[in-house]
Amino acid sequence: MKYDRTYNFSAGPAMMPEAVLEEIRDEMLNYQGSGMCVMEMSHRSAVFQKIIEEAEQDLRDLMNIPDNYKVLFIQGGATLQFSMIPMNLMKNGKAVYIETGAWSKKAIAEAKKVGEVIVAASSKDKNYSYIPDCSDLDIPEDTDYVYICENETIHGTTYQTLPNTKGHILVSDQSSMFLSKPCNVADYGMIYGGVQKNVGPAGMVIAIIREDLIRDDLDNLPVYMQYKTHADAQSLYNTPNCWAIYCCGKVFKYLKKLGGLEAMHKMNQEKAKVLYDFLDSSKMFTGAVEKEVRSLMNVPFVTASKELDAEVVAATKKAGYDNLKGHKSVGGLRASIYNAMPKEGVEALVEFLKKFEAEYQG
Ligand SMILES: *Cc1c(COP(=O)(O)O)cnc(C)c1O
Repeated sequence: MKYDRTYNFSAGPAMMPEAVLEEIRDEMLNYQGSGMCVMEMSHRSAVFQKIIEEAEQDLRDLMNIPDNYKVLFIQGGATLQFSMIPMNLMKNGKAVYIETGAWSKKAIAEAKKVGEVIVAASSKDKNYSYIPDCSDLDIPEDTDYVYICENETIHGTTYQTLPNTKGHILVSDQSSMFLSKPCNVADYGMIYGGVQKNVGPAGMVIAIIREDLIRDDLDNLPVYMQYKTHADAQSLYNTPNCWAIYCCGKVFKYLKKLGGLEAMHKMNQEKAKVLYDFLDSSKMFTGAVEKEVRSLMNVPFVTASKELDAEVVAATKKAGYDNLKGHKSVGGLRASIYNAMPKEGVEALVEFLKKFEAEYQG
């Protein structure tokens, strides 16, 4: 591999496209004749203004974001949204949450501090290995929104169809699937994603929110916690994460050049198939979730024992495949294969696991 880089299967921060890293390297000391690095630049400068505007426009192009949605770049990662969402969107003080794993649980815990949370469906009974049926949820009329974590990073499940919200707005945490496939933004009231999973460096979330959901009667909230603050200031109320905005902008351009989200989706499907086909044929490794809801991004799998799991993790690491240890809450192994993981990386890993299995069984 060029640069002697490892295939990094981390759940996040994760790999970025090599072509993007090269461009960033080339612009590091002097960004396009500005005489400075983007890290050194005023967020009020004309040069940076162009960077943030282009980033927003390229994201709008990629996702076909309708004009009545705002695109906000906010700090605090996806985690701050667990609080900002109920603080801003709970008008009646009531929301429906679907519990599908660790990240939706965290969101539920924070929302409970703000108002009433109704967990209308859960997959807890089978250790979050499936997505519950959300076609006929019990949703009270005065519910402010229905909340999902659309791809559970730790458990490796993803929605195949969105919940029937019965006319209520849908809020979705897309952190670990952001820009991995086409998405009809109009189906949602709000979409958000921490960018360090599938897009860029850590420390920022992108929130896409329908304009009519941005309230101006929330002066009692800390100013940073109001969507209105960020919307009115075009994400420049205070110093934003300029570096992350710049890097994400590069990735958006890269994705556009690749052919957009349809093309990316096709590549992701082909890539994930290599690994899932192997897991389905292996006698040593088993996929950890129901087939129909398998994530294209995060692939958890196990062997028959914890000891063997640990042995495989150690062997992969030694061979140059990094971060395959499953999350501490579920154990086993997990390969995160986001947009920037090349198919060759997955193929190489599968070859390695095949060999490991053959040698183990002698
Ligand atoms: C990683 C992750 C988060 C938390 O992101 P931070 O940027 O670390 O706050 C939230 N939701 C999902 C689905 C994630 O994968």
